[in-house]
Amino acid sequence: MLLASLAALALISLWWLWHWQYAQAQAEARRHAEARLALYGSSLQGALERFTYLPDLLARQPLVQAVLLDPAGVFLPQVNAHLARVAERSGAEAIFLVDAEGVTLASSNHAGPDSFVGHDYRFRPYVQDALAGGRGEFFAVGSTTGRPGYFIAAAVGQERESPTGVLVVKVSLESLQTDWRRAGERVLLVDANGVVILSSRPEWRYRRLGELSPRAQAEIRAQRQFMEHPLEPLGSRLGDGSLRIGEQGLGERYMASALPLATLGWRMHYLTPVRPLYVSARNTLLGGVAVWLALLLLGLWLRERQKRQRLREREARIFREANEQLEARVVERTRALHEAQAELVQAGKLAALGTMAAGIAHELNQPLSGIRTYAANGERLMQRGRSEAAEENFQRIQGLCERLATLIRQLKLFARKGGAREPVDLRARLDFVLELLAERLDKQEIAMAMRLPEAGAPWVLGDEVRIEQLLTNLLRNALDALHGVEAPRLEVSIEEASSCWVVRIADNGPGIPEALLDKLFDPFFTTKAVGDGLGLGLFISFGIVQDLGGRLQAGNNSTGGAWFRVELPRAAVQLKRETDHE
Ligand code: ADP
Repeated sequence: MLLASLAALALISLWWLWHWQYAQAQAEARRHAEARLALYGSSLQGALERFTYLPDLLARQPLVQAVLLDPAGVFLPQVNAHLARVAERSGAEAIFLVDAEGVTLASSNHAGPDSFVGHDYRFRPYVQDALAGGRGEFFAVGSTTGRPGYFIAAAVGQERESPTGVLVVKVSLESLQTDWRRAGERVLLVDANGVVILSSRPEWRYRRLGELSPRAQAEIRAQRQFMEHPLEPLGSRLGDGSLRIGEQGLGERYMASALPLATLGWRMHYLTPVRPLYVSARNTLLGGVAVWLALLLLGLWLRERQKRQRLREREARIFREANEQLEARVVERTRALHEAQAELVQAGKLAALGTMAAGIAHELNQPLSGIRTYAANGERLMQRGRSEAAEENFQRIQGLCERLATLIRQLKLFARKGGAREPVDLRARLDFVLELLAERLDKQEIAMAMRLPEAGAPWVLGDEVRIEQLLTNLLRNALDALHGVEAPRLEVSIEEASSCWVVRIADNGPGIPEALLDKLFDPFFTTKAVGDGLGLGLFISFGIVQDLGGRLQAGNNSTGGAWFRVELPRAAVQLKRETDHE
């Protein structure tokens, strides 16, 4: 629908464009024609008016009049010479005098081969008009010379009613025709009957523009106006008023502009070829077609672009939707995972609680049953009066109570959560713990190898008590492991890593059996004899390190012995403080 109306619009606009351009070109051509006609018309009028006074002037001259009244012809040579002189001066082609009968008495060309003298011109209307009304004018092809000319006649005689003769001036218009031809223009001068009397093209002369009435034909013949010329039609008038000249098909079409002249009902025609008008209209039409084609191409391109844009948008939408679905699924899965994790944690907590409860029950049970046994034994010994032996039992009970107190202290420590996280000098804490253990180190004759940071204190985030607890646990375990070992050796180092400080404690003891590495940090895991270890040391240490945001790992050296590695986050504030000091 849109396409059809666009096509209709294009056709209408092209049709209008063609007509508009043609009308423009036609109007322009008409303006030009009118300007040229005005110019050529006035130059023709000027050429004719130059001579209008001359016949009258000559007719009044006594010498001329005398010839008509002089049958003997005494004045003839004189008049002939006079007329020849005047013709030469004025530029007229010929000047001659006819008597009342129409016969030429004297002429400017009396001496030439085409002399008019003796010729009878009564048949010419200018002679008749002058004899009848005093003046006459006419265009005709000369019957004597065959040369065309404009004849102006004036009656000669004292009395107006009965003239004695007629004086005629013949004006040649050939020079005008030559001017038109030189200007390369198509100009016609047509008489009242529609016969071309002057033309810029010689072959168009003496041809008629319309039909001649029988009366006009008879008159022309009687006046011998165009002598033997057949007066064929010049061309045919077409429906739009244009003129076709020449053979059918080969002929050319002209647009004719006409200017009526004052003389003898003449009309001047200016012909403009129609073909250039069509050519200009056609060129404009082609321009219009080109514009429409460009618009069409632009439209197609825009449509294609729009299509591609829509496709891209659809792709983007599909992509976005897929993304959103994927994200939704990820969120869903993450949620499910969290739930599962929470459940696991819960289960883990319960299991840990169970293990712990069992461990605590066991740990409490043993000393308790010991206490009960020692108390019963003590009682019996007291009854028997063996108080020294009973004393020993009391001492044992004290030892077991001590053990229970230790357990409870450990548990209390474990229960103590959080604590402050402030910068702690790791090295100072290590020194402090080593100081506490100095006696044991000495007693066991342990060789110490320390590697500490050379400059500045290793500041970590935590609280002093728990960090001391952590270091004590690890060092104590190492000392326990070195019991009875030959050439016991302990390596302690503090090193800097990207965002933390690393403490490494390694011994050359028996190491940890591979199979037990996994359980090392479980609560109540111990390989020590009952009474020697509770199996809470590493469990608590692990909890402390995690709480401080660090990491605790254990393994065996390739050369034998175990190592423990603690990562503790560095205290950034302290670093700054240090640089301030510098
Ligand atoms: P406890 O010292 O009361 O046994 P811990 O949790 O501190 O409890 O230690 C658990 C177990 O880990 C110890 O019983 C011991 O078997 C093992 N362990 C700890 N440190 C070392 C070490 N340096 N070398 C060998 N074994 C160790």
